[in-house]
Amino acid sequence: MTHLQIRQHDRHALRAGYSPAVRRFEIASIVAFVAVMVWLLTGIAPRMATNPFLAISALMLGFVAADFLSGVVHWAADTWGTPDLPVIGRALIRPFREHHVDEKEITRHDFVETNGNNCFVSMPVAAGAALLPDTTVGFFAAAMTFSICLAIFGTNQFHKWAHMDEPPRYVRALQKANLILPPEHHAVHHTAPYAKYYCITVGWMNEALFRLRFFQTLERMITAVTGLIPREDDIGKRAALVVAQQQPPPLPELPKIALPTIDLPDVTRRAVKPE
Ligand SMILES: [Zn+2]
Ligand SMILES: [Zn+2]
Repeated sequence: MTHLQIRQHDRHALRAGYSPAVRRFEIASIVAFVAVMVWLLTGIAPRMATNPFLAISALMLGFVAADFLSGVVHWAADTWGTPDLPVIGRALIRPFREHHVDEKEITRHDFVETNGNNCFVSMPVAAGAALLPDTTVGFFAAAMTFSICLAIFGTNQFHKWAHMDEPPRYVRALQKANLILPPEHHAVHHTAPYAKYYCITVGWMNEALFRLRFFQTLERMITAVTGLIPREDDIGKRAALVVAQQQPPPLPELPKIALPTIDLPDVTRRAVKPE
């Protein structure tokens, strides 16, 4: 991919964008997020006890939805805008630009820098869920939202672990079990031009979204409407234009599954007589 002449931001300039004001904003976001999540959990806990299967379904669906949303947010922050945009540029876009230039920087982030921006994004969503009516549908939506916000809260941590050379042993076990983002899987995203496998909670949605050309289709629609070039700020205009005009590679074939043959009793001739 060197022929693309990818042009990225200066690593030190991106790091300098992490100001004390951004840090104070992140600390406030984490505190507010924890308070809102406790409020939401207090509201749904009684129904969780009486409807455990409904609760488990909502929580599991929320985990998958969080993986999808992590991909959408990551894709949006990787592909559009610049770190110079007010608020969102510094808080959300800058870390993603920095991450492509220096993917180990995330492993040097402390708890606040790792989790602050996700807390800011999730907090109003969790607050909205806490205000849902106490009906079955309202409970399902609130429990699913709780799970989404919790998994989104874990996402940057899972992402950070995926970049660590020696994560804790329990983390490695979870990665090997494919229950949090495995490093080998995430390495696909870090191959230039950084244009696929955006989901970073666990990565379950990546292959499906890639096969559906999900983000590529969205990019073409947005470019058609706005004229913007996807990832122009991330890799430079020339490389971005080449990538945007590239045809997608042919999809690898799915592995063929040989179904076992089972001897079933012949029931075709034994017609049931009408009464
Ligand atoms: Zn990325
Ligand atoms: Zn990464």
